[in-house]
Amino acid sequence: MKKATLFFILLTAKLMAQNPIDSYPVYDGADLGCTYTAQSTFFRVWSPIAKSVQLRFYKTDLPKERDVDLIEMVEMQAAEKGTWTFRAVGNRVGQYYTYQVKTDSATLKEVPDLYAKAVGANGRRAQIIDFQQAAPPKWADDQSPVFKQKTDAIIYELHVRDATIHPASGVKNKGKFIGLTEKKTKTPSGFTTGLDYIADLGVTHVQILPMYDYFTVDEIAPFDPKSYNWGYDPLNYNAPEGNYATNPHDGAVRVTELRQMIQRFHKKGLRVVMDVVYNHTMFGAESYFHQLVPNYYHRVSEKGQFSNASGCGNETASERPMMRKFMLESLIHWVENYHIDGFRFDLMGIHDIETMNYISEALHKIKPDILLYGEGWTAGDSPLAENRRSLKKYAHRLDKIGVFSDDMRDGLKGSVFEKLDKGFVSGKAGMEASIQFGVVAGVSHPNVEVSKVVYTKENWAAEPHHCINYVECHDNHTLWDKLAISNANDSEATRQKMHRLANTIVLTSQGISFLHAGSEFLRTKQGEENSYKSPDDINYLDWERAAKNKISIDYFKKLIALRRNHPAFRMPTATAIRENLQFLKTEAGIVAYTLNGAKAGDKWKEMIVIYNATQQSAPIPLPEGKWKVILDGERIMEKGIHDFKGTRYYAPALSAIILAR
Ligand code: CA
Repeated sequence: MKKATLFFILLTAKLMAQNPIDSYPVYDGADLGCTYTAQSTFFRVWSPIAKSVQLRFYKTDLPKERDVDLIEMVEMQAAEKGTWTFRAVGNRVGQYYTYQVKTDSATLKEVPDLYAKAVGANGRRAQIIDFQQAAPPKWADDQSPVFKQKTDAIIYELHVRDATIHPASGVKNKGKFIGLTEKKTKTPSGFTTGLDYIADLGVTHVQILPMYDYFTVDEIAPFDPKSYNWGYDPLNYNAPEGNYATNPHDGAVRVTELRQMIQRFHKKGLRVVMDVVYNHTMFGAESYFHQLVPNYYHRVSEKGQFSNASGCGNETASERPMMRKFMLESLIHWVENYHIDGFRFDLMGIHDIETMNYISEALHKIKPDILLYGEGWTAGDSPLAENRRSLKKYAHRLDKIGVFSDDMRDGLKGSVFEKLDKGFVSGKAGMEASIQFGVVAGVSHPNVEVSKVVYTKENWAAEPHHCINYVECHDNHTLWDKLAISNANDSEATRQKMHRLANTIVLTSQGISFLHAGSEFLRTKQGEENSYKSPDDINYLDWERAAKNKISIDYFKKLIALRRNHPAFRMPTATAIRENLQFLKTEAGIVAYTLNGAKAGDKWKEMIVIYNATQQSAPIPLPEGKWKVILDGERIMEKGIHDFKGTRYYAPALSAIILAR
């Protein structure tokens, strides 16, 4: 061993030994939080630095002056591995509770239980509920719809409040979990809305923007139009958000109504993906984590300040054993107690790869058909070594976890950060390789020149399930708004063609497809590019706009059905993609390829897919013989719109074509 290496190892060991956090005992039991029975409730909290922990019981959920609603305050007992316990006798159901830690040097703030499964209004106090009883009728019989392989997924990204809050939604419980359980909801003019509408689209998964308890929306006055938030400001990770419940004060109502929503989704053939934000907490020093064990759950810079890879003021430390345990147990809680079918990890690049793979292995054991994916980037630098981060470029090192492809997203429409930038569908030259790269779901393919891809110049996906293909999501301008800015000189009819072409590319490419709710009716946020706290009239799904764009919606439905009916569009392995998908030599602005349907298990033996992003009709040379035209740029008919015989097919300007035989 070289002297310098030895020195480095000794120095590292010394530095690690100096950080007392790394010597904290790790509690490995499964009973953190409160365990309720009618006879007694048992509490266990981890706080290895505490000199004492006080547990307070309250009648009400919101802190009052002089604690007039205090039922009892007890000192917890020191127990094994840094934990503190207390058994409260009697039936405590309905009571609220908090912890308060005192260390040698400080009395920390009173906070709810990190492991609270139920909380009162605005998440200030945890609540003891009979968790198993907090369920709708027949909850025990709830079953997730069948889902065979990851590349079958077509994800639809939805915000609970956006879905039903529009005045014309016809939904009674607007903006609520149970608003998405209502049947046969319609606009005044008779257009189907709400869950019925979503289920009719034919997507397989609905991804719900944060629905754990988050901070910003005042749950007591949730329908103040100024009080809107996406929910990327987490407070209580294991309790449902209260502004979506009909009674935010009652933790059992929050739990029951969320379960009711999931049960309805499952009945309608939709699996539910939860958007989870373990990468940062709403508050730093004031966070519940920090008030129980200072500096443990967050990364801290060399200067002793919170590091900020999230861009939200702090970042969590997934590599620390008790944070890793918290994440895993939280995820298992949602799978086991809410039948959640998948997770979308916000800023997953902040989490270390080892933790993500550990989580993936454990969750796949519990639910083999679970779907896991996330944002393979950070929003700032992190003290975590770059090669440990769950970044897109390391997707091939992630075990059964996908990442969003910004290569496809911005290849199609241009950079989300540069308003005027264009992409393949909107007229930018040289984007063909990015589209081809998306078509093969980011895996290596002999026809694709990876060095010409817009961002990542290497094949980050090993298998197609590593790649989530999309063109818009809740972040940044909607595609429709982006086109209005980047292509202001084009007519609305032309922009509609671009919009349709972009989404057709997403839904015919290999990998996993992802749609932002309302994209199918040209969703607009009136030009707002970051609507995280914008009022409802920017964010809501506008059902009147939907009714006006029925032709576009029908096109999406047929395209989704086409993908679901034809396995050639969603091959399960990279090997199958390399063997069965070949690109044709085409002119600039055009991408075309053949699919060997026979080998991909498709009822069509051979298919040709053409994307013409030029503003002219383009002749595409074809192999000899007779073809059925399945998609002619505007119409989709699986039986064939008409037959075509010839060696040259003229693809209309700005259109996608599918031929089959
Ligand atoms: Ca909340």
